Amino acid sequence: MRLLIAILALPLCAQPIYDILIRNGHVIDPANGRDARMDVVITGNKIVRVAENLPAAHAREVIDAGQFYVTPGLIDIHTHVDAQGAQLNVNPDHNCLPSGVTTAVDAGSSGHKNFEHFKRLVIDRSQTRVLAFLNIVGAGMYGAVEQDVFEMDPDAAAAMIRKYPGIIVGIKTAHFKPPGWDAVDRAVKAGTLANVPVMVDFHPMEKYPELVLERMRPGDIDTHFYGRLTPQLDANKKMQPYILAARKRGVLFDVGHGSGSFWFRIAVPAIQQGFLPDTISTDLHKSSIMLPRANMITTMSKFLNIGMTLQQVIERSTIRPAKAIRRSDIGTLSEGAIADVALIALDRGKFAYLDSGHGKLIGDRRLRCALTIRNGKVVWDEQGLSLTDVSRAGPYSNFK
Ligand SMILES: [Zn+2]
Repeated sequence: MRLLIAILALPLCAQPIYDILIRNGHVIDPANGRDARMDVVITGNKIVRVAENLPAAHAREVIDAGQFYVTPGLIDIHTHVDAQGAQLNVNPDHNCLPSGVTTAVDAGSSGHKNFEHFKRLVIDRSQTRVLAFLNIVGAGMYGAVEQDVFEMDPDAAAAMIRKYPGIIVGIKTAHFKPPGWDAVDRAVKAGTLANVPVMVDFHPMEKYPELVLERMRPGDIDTHFYGRLTPQLDANKKMQPYILAARKRGVLFDVGHGSGSFWFRIAVPAIQQGFLPDTISTDLHKSSIMLPRANMITTMSKFLNIGMTLQQVIERSTIRPAKAIRRSDIGTLSEGAIADVALIALDRGKFAYLDSGHGKLIGDRRLRCALTIRNGKVVWDEQGLSLTDVSRAGPYSNFK
């Protein structure tokens, strides 16, 4: 009888019960306070276990992560994405997944008039999880009517946000030129009606304290924080006290690197004075991905080289942005979460980084995304970590 049980049990034990085992990586998962060598197990599209020394025999596929940091899929909360080659926007999959970004939040490409078109063409067709800040302008950035206050309808915007909870995660106001608070106030009104945060890209130099101390609400997000149009430092390069007061009342400060909004001459003194960003983001678009190289992994590398720890950088690219957009279900390796994972290499050497102008900074570390898993599937694998050496691969066909 004992022999029979042993025989019956054998094939069961040998059955793979996990789809992917990411073995022996240095897991940094700030949402769960993890910062140690561990294994991460995926079954289907879910994280099912994170622990030490899990049995490889139970996995269909083992990825050796001994040389890498294993983090939740990164979240970039300021992007401009499109699958149709719009004037400014870039393809989310091509520009996010190779950076380890599994969630890209489009910052105001569409408004209430054209969000559903944007959803059909971009959100529904991308492997990247694309979410959106709805532009307070009805036609978003496509309509060339960003200065027209009559295009800003808080009720219509709030109704569209309520129709897509968790997909439209906030409201955006940007590039408003006339004096006055119409754009900000209407965006805040829509945000209040729909109970979502507002991302603000509006930098009235002399009135900036009023913006962050009075007009914006706790939880609203000021983007382009290290830009030269944001009066964050005084003449002696000291942080302005009102910025600290704004942070204290709960306003969030986001990077939004872009082609014009990240300057080493501002970011370095701010970081040295301990003013870290609440969230790291790229303002990814056709210009920013070129000379300043404002993709996510390079932007994170810049902050690593100007004084932030790797743990701080990862936290501000995962659970902090998730909380800012009130999606704490992502940016985490919690058991039961959707399996979005990045394997990140930390290269040492001499690396040049560009800011949004003519500034260059030489650093000694570079982050590089080696592999990205989105929704349980390997979607980026720079080094073939999930593949078999050709000498042992047998007959095989193409990826699709
Ligand atoms: Zn932008």
